[in-house]
Amino acid sequence: MSTKTDNLIEQTERFGAPNYHPLPIVISRAEGVWVEDPEGNKYMDMLSAYSAVNQGHRHPKIIQALKDQADRVTLTSRAFHNDQLGPWYEKVCRLAGKEMALPMNTGAEAVETAIKAARRWAYDVKGVAENQAEVIACIGNFHGRTMTAVSLSSEEEYKRGFGPMLPGIKLVPYGDIDALNEAITPNTAAFLIEPIQGEAGIVMPPEGFLKEARDLCRQEKVLFIADEIQAGLGRSGKLFACEWENVDPDMYILGKALGGGVFPISCVLADREILGVFNPGSHGSTFGGNPIACAVSIAALDVLVDEGLAERSREMGEYFTGKLREIDNPLINEIRGRGLFIGVELNEPARKYCEQLKEEGLLCKETHDTVIRFAPPLVITREELDWAIERIKKILS
Ligand code: PLP
Repeated sequence: MSTKTDNLIEQTERFGAPNYHPLPIVISRAEGVWVEDPEGNKYMDMLSAYSAVNQGHRHPKIIQALKDQADRVTLTSRAFHNDQLGPWYEKVCRLAGKEMALPMNTGAEAVETAIKAARRWAYDVKGVAENQAEVIACIGNFHGRTMTAVSLSSEEEYKRGFGPMLPGIKLVPYGDIDALNEAITPNTAAFLIEPIQGEAGIVMPPEGFLKEARDLCRQEKVLFIADEIQAGLGRSGKLFACEWENVDPDMYILGKALGGGVFPISCVLADREILGVFNPGSHGSTFGGNPIACAVSIAALDVLVDEGLAERSREMGEYFTGKLREIDNPLINEIRGRGLFIGVELNEPARKYCEQLKEEGLLCKETHDTVIRFAPPLVITREELDWAIERIKKILS
């Protein structure tokens, strides 16, 4: 007899475009680090919706903010002001130490916004000739799925059949300062980088690179843009992953946990000299800056700060990585990461192990074939990590 889970997966596969390959589990309830399927089986979530659920599933303070706001007003569009946008602007700007913010909905849209800002800045402020602006990105990057984002990608599968790509993009090896130096021309508007490459398999640049690249950009009048959509907001053990090298980027791109895994909201943050290039009519989004997203995001940021989730990620990440390193198995090539943003690289495809971990009650997802990503909600306790380690040891020993 087929279960509710079987039926729901069958329905999803019949009517849904086949652009994902999920593990065969349906989640119908969630709280904190735990999720449940329709049959009542419980699993620990070690993916956190690709780091969107840093605050834990359905954090009560964030859910309360959502409910309270839903009872007042949900959408005004930007044709009118709403009473949540101003307070959200001030909170997120003060947190990031930037003068201005521009809200969108998804990460990819915020990346689009950053590229548009950088290009216009190049023409209006730097003095680059019209339509000549260039952006430098890194091999192995992931900035989303819109045309701009896939044009930035080095991954053939993300681009195949979608051309022509956006012009004016150069790619350099991640962490190669000489290559970056060579790629910069008088037309370079920006250097776009993930301080830790998430989708590439939790890849970190060589120590000192972020600082060197930041200094080089300043010297060459090139904007240094940090895509902290996945690595930011506490995930790496600091509020922003750039802080690991005391780097203050010209522009931050945030998303995912900015809405606490409850409501989509993303943004770009920078000083007035950069975001001031936009004027009414030049950019926007019907849902960007909507009152529900802003109210939820204010609560999500409060939870991150008030509960010290960045420090918690650092502490728990050290503990968890230490335990993972105790596993003695030639199958494991490398264990790397920062905070609770951990990649275990295997010598063979990781999918099979993710499926076995699922059978043990632990949900994680392979990335780039051979890497298992462990990125639980940052509210996870030491006891819960011990529970996870027991299962991981069983599968990987
Ligand atoms: N940038 C980075 C670094 C990401 O990890 C992601 C999503 O995984 C994105 C951008 C795209 O975000 P979204 O899926 O919300 O468009």
